[in-house]
Formats: sequence, structure tokens, C-alpha cells
Amino acid sequence: MAKQQGKNRSYVFDIEQDVAIKHHNEALKRIAQALKNNEFALYYQPKTDLRSNRVVGVEALIRWNHPDRGVLAPAMFLPAVEHDILDIEIGKWVIKTALQQSQNWLSSGTDIPISVNISPLHLQHAEFVSELKRMLDQYPNINAGSLEFEILESSALKDIELVSKVMKECNQLGVRFSIDDFGTGYSSLTYLKRLPAETLKIDQSFVRDMLIDTDDKAIIQGIIELAKVFNLKVIAEGVETPQHGELLLSLGCYFVQGYGIAKPMHENDVLTWLVKWEKTPCLVDGRV
Ligand code: C2E
Ligand code: MG
Ligand code: MG
Ligand code: MG
Repeated sequence: MAKQQGKNRSYVFDIEQDVAIKHHNEALKRIAQALKNNEFALYYQPKTDLRSNRVVGVEALIRWNHPDRGVLAPAMFLPAVEHDILDIEIGKWVIKTALQQSQNWLSSGTDIPISVNISPLHLQHAEFVSELKRMLDQYPNINAGSLEFEILESSALKDIELVSKVMKECNQLGVRFSIDDFGTGYSSLTYLKRLPAETLKIDQSFVRDMLIDTDDKAIIQGIIELAKVFNLKVIAEGVETPQHGELLLSLGCYFVQGYGIAKPMHENDVLTWLVKWEKTPCLVDGRV
């Protein structure tokens, strides 16, 4: 009887697993189709300097304009492709689209640095650098120094030898790196020293509560000190209120990004936003 039950259980498990796999494969098929149908879009979120209020760049963030479900955030579909070749296909599309956008803005007289998020799988792909070079060659007017890649702290740590080699090769092409969601991985100081990145991006989980949680504030202070030691820039993400801006400024973190400045926006809205910001820069309601 017990044996029988065990068998049944494993049978049920097999079915559940089958269903999950089928579901996953269907999701992958649908995402591949979305890529073909041009249903993905990049939204852009500004980064500013608290000292001058100047815009220092924008981060490109992917969205899926789903025909039935509306605009979907990356958390709704990127995890499905994480270990699949589609992850790389999407990554290539993102870089190409960001370069095209950069070229369009350049043509209208606006030279604005763009940051692109790169997945761990894509970064470690054998052809990453050669494909990047090929894409950059297609946009000779774009200064590669205006392109930045954001890589997760956790992905940088997976294969430090390979990742730092790829980063160096990208650096040689002029592309810079920032370490995203910094503070959530477990980088040791030696690791940090070996990564040719220019910027640490303080994770928004620390920024969110820094006004009320002294531990989070202390972590941010620690990251700012660390950045000084290693001669890195530091930017805070998730800056939602003028109070966040004031505290960050007083701690010596000058670059910020967050809903308090602007939410990620459609490509068509960026230039209008820039003009408005230049006239009256303000964090949420109050001036910075
Ligand atoms: P991330 O790179 O850390 O991007 C910041 C995320 O925080 C974005 O979410 C942004 O919309 C959100 N955010 C910005 N300011 C605020 C704020 O003040 N408050 C709050 N609560 N949130 C804020 P989003 O666009 O949903 O992206 C989530 C993550 O998905 C990104 O985190 C990034 O890791 C990944 N991602 C986005 N686009 C791409 C892409 O093109 N390629 C890859 N590989 N990953 C991407
Ligand atoms: Mg990012
Ligand atoms: Mg982040
Ligand atoms: Mg994140």
C-alpha cells in the first residue's frame, strides 16, 4: 500500500513537472514571438546630479507591450528566459535598440549617455564582445563612452576571471560599467578591486528606508566610503522624495535616480521631459 502510494505520488509529481515544463515552453514560445512581432520597448529613466541638477544619463528599462495584458514590467517575463538562448536574443535587441535611440537623440541634437542592463548569461556569452563591436560599428556617430552597461553584483561574482576579462575588452571599446543593486551581493573587497567598473549603484532597498532605518543609512555610508577608496562613482537608485535627496547629498552621494526625479518614460516623452527639467528641476514637489 505504502509502495503504491509512493508510486502515485511520484506519478503526480511527474504530471506536475510535465505541466510546469509545458507551461514554461509555451511562455518561451510566446516571448520569442513577441520579440519577432516587435512587442518589446525600452523605457528611459533619467539620472541626475544633485549638485547641479543636471541630467547625467538615462537607464533603458525593458517593457512588453502585451496585446492583451497591457504594458508588462520585466519581472513578468525576464525570469522565464533566464537560462534560455532567448535571454541573449533579448539582450542583443536591447543593446541595438538603445544604440538606435541614442542615434535618434543625437540627430535631434541631444547627446545623452544611456545605460543598459546586461544579464549574466549574455555577458558571459562567447560572442558578447565581438557582437558589441559589430553593433557599435553600425553607429559610428555614437561615442562608445556614452554607453554604459549595468551588471548585477551577483553576476559579476559568478565567474570573476571571465567577467573581468569581458569588462576589460568592453572598456577598450570605450564602454563603461556600473555594478547594479550594489550591497545585495556579497562582494569582498578583493573582488571589487578586480572588476573594471566605474560606478557602484546603491540598491534601492537601502535607499527606501534610509530616512528611518539607521542600519540602511550606515550601509549607504559604507558604500560611499568604499567607492571613495576604490575611486568609483556612486549613484543611488529608488530616490523617491526630496528628503532622500537631501540626506544623500549630505552623505556625499551626488548621483541619483528614482521616481522622485522621474519614472521610466516612453522614448517619445524623454526630450519634452528634459526641456521641462532644465527649466524647473525639482525633486517631487519641493526644489532639491
Ligand atoms: P534595475 O536595473 O535595478 O532597475 C531599477 C528598477 O527600479 C526599475 O524597475 C525601475 O523602474 C525601478 N525604480 C526606479 N526608480 C524607482 C523608485 O523611486 N522607486 C521604486 N520603487 N522603484 C523604482 P523595472 O523597470 O521593473 O526593472 C526591474 C529590473 O529588471 C531592473 O532592475 C533590471 O535588473 C531588470 N531589467 C530591466 N530592463 C532590463 C533589460 O533590458 N535587460 C535586462 N537583462 N534586465 C533588465
Ligand atoms: Mg539597472
Ligand atoms: Mg538596481
Ligand atoms: Mg534591481
